[in-house]
Amino acid sequence: MDKQTDFVLRSLEERNVQFVRLWFTDVLGFLKSVAIAPAELEGAFTEGLGFDGSSIEGFERGMESDMVAHPDASTFQILPWRKWPGGGNTARMFCDLRLPDGSPSYADPRYVLKRAMDKAAEMGFDFYIHPEIEFFLFNKDVVPGEPPVPIDNSGYFDHTVSSTGSDFRRTAIEMLEAMGISVEFSHHEVGPGQQEIDLRYADALSMADNIMTFRVVVKEVAELRGIRASFMPKPLSEAPGSGMHTHMSLFSGDDNAFYDATAEHQLSKTARRFIAGIMHHAEEISAVTNQWVNSYKRLVTGAEAPSFICWGRTNASALVRIPIYKPGKGSSARIELRSIDTAANPYLAYAMILHAGLAGIENEYDLLDEAEDDVWRLTDRERTAMGIRPLPRNLDEAIRFMETSDLALEALGEHVFEFFLRNKKAEFAQYRAQVTPFELERYLPVL
Ligand code: GLN
Ligand code: MG
Ligand code: MG
Ligand code: MG
Repeated sequence: MDKQTDFVLRSLEERNVQFVRLWFTDVLGFLKSVAIAPAELEGAFTEGLGFDGSSIEGFERGMESDMVAHPDASTFQILPWRKWPGGGNTARMFCDLRLPDGSPSYADPRYVLKRAMDKAAEMGFDFYIHPEIEFFLFNKDVVPGEPPVPIDNSGYFDHTVSSTGSDFRRTAIEMLEAMGISVEFSHHEVGPGQQEIDLRYADALSMADNIMTFRVVVKEVAELRGIRASFMPKPLSEAPGSGMHTHMSLFSGDDNAFYDATAEHQLSKTARRFIAGIMHHAEEISAVTNQWVNSYKRLVTGAEAPSFICWGRTNASALVRIPIYKPGKGSSARIELRSIDTAANPYLAYAMILHAGLAGIENEYDLLDEAEDDVWRLTDRERTAMGIRPLPRNLDEAIRFMETSDLALEALGEHVFEFFLRNKKAEFAQYRAQVTPFELERYLPVL
């Protein structure tokens, strides 16, 4: 038994832990949880906890439905909102999923990301991420067929005295910090009721775990306050959607591999190729970074979400933006991907992005010129002349790009790749068969 496992077992009593929740994530990014008594934990560490994989979205695999969850001791944390009368605590740990023979489960999103990070490590890189997470707060009661009602009418950076939004953010941040998730920044976003919380950078696996935790914390705090939090990418037609701008860097040991003091914009060759990789494969990774029918309603012109594949420095319409670093702050050199939304499966999305970036480095892709203009204002002809392609405009287009992508197949592995496409095709087919309010309003009076 390693030190960390030992530490967890010893702290159970000291911290008065009455339940331990074992967490893992399904292929679509939903959190799964099973609670065990503290006395069972030692067994879970040594043998894992068996469960029926066939009942979990994306795990079923014919005869191999038995799965075993192995808790990762390094992720042990007390859930701050779950105090028992008398002071008892509930803790959680993320799990790695294995088959009964001990081999890793190909359906486990955590394993998909670990494989991608191993590939980066073989090339000499560690992958770090910091996300800007946006979400809406709505009144709890939603009338079916009516848009949700935001809890306030504030806008970007608004400061309002003791508002629901700022109290909400404070409580959520306290809970995140109590769970070892550092918050860098938080504010009201542009849309009514829209909030943003930015997490301090961490390695991609820890960050994917953090995002799963973040969603739970935000939902729990909303529940405590009698409101509803939503990570739906575009819940209101009239307001911007919720993105998850993702800042990324590769490190070689202690050195930021994206930084080169002598290069243009201090952007190293590695960084340029990584960006080129993301741009080259942007269409193929889209179905995973933006996985819902609704995701594509956010990626429309003008709402500060990208619709075209280009990069720039201060350009809010670009897919990849290069933040301008403070002089002497080479270690903070990074690139920002602006397409991904908060409702993605973070493990699969980070794996796809990393594979795309690494492909750029491996194949030495050239980077197109920076887009200095607001690309939304150009005509289609002008964009084509500049080599700027559109992002997929809906889930169906994204699926078609992914279907023929060797990169997606390699990144996800055959099992997740096949399941994901099947599931997404079914989602789009159901959506396509709907007659929407838009059609009724537009056509019934005249046709
Ligand atoms: N909400 C915008 C999006 O969907 C981002 C706004 C911003 O942070 N500049 O990406
Ligand atoms: Mg921001
Ligand atoms: Mg924002
Ligand atoms: Mg940003």
